[in-house]
Amino acid sequence: METIFTKIITREIPADIIYEDDTVLAFLDIQPINPGHTLVIPKVPSVDGTVINPDTLAHMMKVAQKIAIALKESTGCTGINFIMNNGADAGQEVLHTHLHIVPRYKNDKAFSPPHRHEYNAFEAQDIIEKMQKHL
Ligand code: 5GP
Repeated sequence: METIFTKIITREIPADIIYEDDTVLAFLDIQPINPGHTLVIPKVPSVDGTVINPDTLAHMMKVAQKIAIALKESTGCTGINFIMNNGADAGQEVLHTHLHIVPRYKNDKAFSPPHRHEYNAFEAQDIIEKMQKHL
């Protein structure tokens, strides 16, 4: 399925590209959480991180690490988030797998604290048993 990111890969629309190789493209997010917020995307389209070729996913992480180091060296940021939203209910808006690399600073208040669940009796063991059947 074609998305805005396919058009960035083919240069039909512009982007601030920071890195490219045969497998991935990395460019600045158009609405950054902090300056330098970068997206790493695979050149072969896939919808999200649950269906992408695992070798491609691994390569995206390798590139993300290089970009994170470059961000730390160049911006002086003191933290980095690697974020991948998989599925609309997880906040994914562009249906082409992408990894956010977000530079962070002390008390930058970039994210509000998430809701946390508390396990009740046997619930943790129950979910482990269900998940392990699929591993
Ligand atoms: P998602 O919510 O799908 O994980 O994140 C999609 C990201 O893509 C958003 O952070 C958004 O700002 C970014 N984005 C959407 N359209 C464009 C675009 O045309 N160019 C660039 N560079 N980023 C985009």
